[in-house]
Amino acid sequence: MQYMKESCLIGGAWVGSASGERMEVLNPATGERIGTVPRCGRSETAQAIAAAHEAFPGWRDTPAQERAALMMKLHDLILANREALGRLLTAEMGKPLAEAVGEITLGAAYLRWFAEEARRVYGEIIPSPWRGRQLLVTREPVGVVGAITPWNFPSSMIGRKLGAALGAGCTMVAKPASQTPYSALALGALAEEAGLPPGILNIVTGSASEIAAEMCENPQLRKITFTGSTEVGKRLASRAMAHMKRVSMELGGNAPFIVFDDADLDRAVEGAMVAKFRNAGQTCVCANRLLVQSGIYDAFAAKLAEAMRGLHVGNGLQPGITQGPLIDAAGVAKVEDHIADAVEHGARVALGGRRHALGGTFFEPTLLLGVTGEMLVACEETFGPLAPLFRFADEAEALRLANATEYGLAAYVYTRDLGRAFRMMQGLDYGLVGVNEGLITTEVAPFGGHKDSGIGVEGSRHGIDDYTQFKYACVGGLA
Ligand code: NAP
Repeated sequence: MQYMKESCLIGGAWVGSASGERMEVLNPATGERIGTVPRCGRSETAQAIAAAHEAFPGWRDTPAQERAALMMKLHDLILANREALGRLLTAEMGKPLAEAVGEITLGAAYLRWFAEEARRVYGEIIPSPWRGRQLLVTREPVGVVGAITPWNFPSSMIGRKLGAALGAGCTMVAKPASQTPYSALALGALAEEAGLPPGILNIVTGSASEIAAEMCENPQLRKITFTGSTEVGKRLASRAMAHMKRVSMELGGNAPFIVFDDADLDRAVEGAMVAKFRNAGQTCVCANRLLVQSGIYDAFAAKLAEAMRGLHVGNGLQPGITQGPLIDAAGVAKVEDHIADAVEHGARVALGGRRHALGGTFFEPTLLLGVTGEMLVACEETFGPLAPLFRFADEAEALRLANATEYGLAAYVYTRDLGRAFRMMQGLDYGLVGVNEGLITTEVAPFGGHKDSGIGVEGSRHGIDDYTQFKYACVGGLA
């Protein structure tokens, strides 16, 4: 496959692991081996950090406009090859090709956005409280950044971290998820083709715990940006903090999707389909709990079931497929656990509920009715094609249920009442709120969670801030 690299990128060289050990990468749709990548550990990570550290001063001192031009070259190359990159992404991750190409396009959009923002990293001059002195504040890149990313968005999660880092003048060592390393390595190949100097972007695959340990403890690395589960994120953040590293954490979610009696029913169903079934339900902003008001509950359930029957499950590389496989057997087991637990506590399976006849990790789009707060699906991210419908009586109950979770990433509300839309928007303790919209991610807006869903934001004009640090200089003797 085009741009499929089977080595790591360290200091401009494509290399294997010191031990020669490799890891297999499987296609989740077929179970077949796509290839292997190096199993690196601490020593290779230390080399990558050293390369990024050496490259840092040159990149930091390159005028923003020149850095932006290189980033735009990378952006253009990604778009020119989006079909090939999409195929690689679908092969390693399973999402339908159209979604994969959409993800590639979004990743490129982050590079473009931050190429533009790179030229606007302004400082300030503070009116001096003293005669004969000037108080200058500049924002400087933090240095070498370590990025650890998940399998569910193997390309765009690196793209939005890389964009902000390069735009700020930082260099990077990236560690992609072991199940989906090829999209990240392909970005490395394209960065090289775009003319990014060696050492600016380094990519290591291998043991997560060893690579993360080196990132946390190596003094040449100054920041860790992580996207993944809350469990790993919390451990990583505390370890990084012990070494006074800056952290950005994009973690798990438990998104409520709230439908009021006065909602536009068709629009709500359309939104639920994209918020729930995109990426087979394996996104951090996925609708995890569908909270539906009593008066519209049955009608919404019927329409949603009808729309779900229209999903085509299969290998994402085949035309017309709208739901791919789950990433692995553990993913399937979790969906099954959630269904079994809900049924045991009184829920009813209205559609699906089983492994798909295609076998492997394919799962039927599943609709559960009569779901309540005591069930596992109420408090855990399912990460699969399971739509559980909860019932609520009024606005106060909807808000209480929606906020009854330690997570706070994304929430969705459907209503035609403007006052209610604003009350909900203000009351929801979430970093992202979709009002009458089920798909709201864009590079121009901040993306980040409240509570256990993380620290910091990516995207938007604020996304570059976490990659910079302030310097205040007091220049005296001017009177
Ligand atoms: P995960 O298990 O936390 O893995 C994410 C990354 O962390 C992978 O690269 C993984 O490497 C690495 N990792 C595993 N153990 C580690 C350790 N001890 N120290 C450091 N890194 C370690 O999460 P996942 O199951 O792949 O991804 C799904 C999660 O990501 C969900 O909770 C989802 O909500 C969240 N997510 C959040 C966002 C957001 O922006 N908020 C976006 C997408 C996904 P290996 O693959 O080598 O194990």
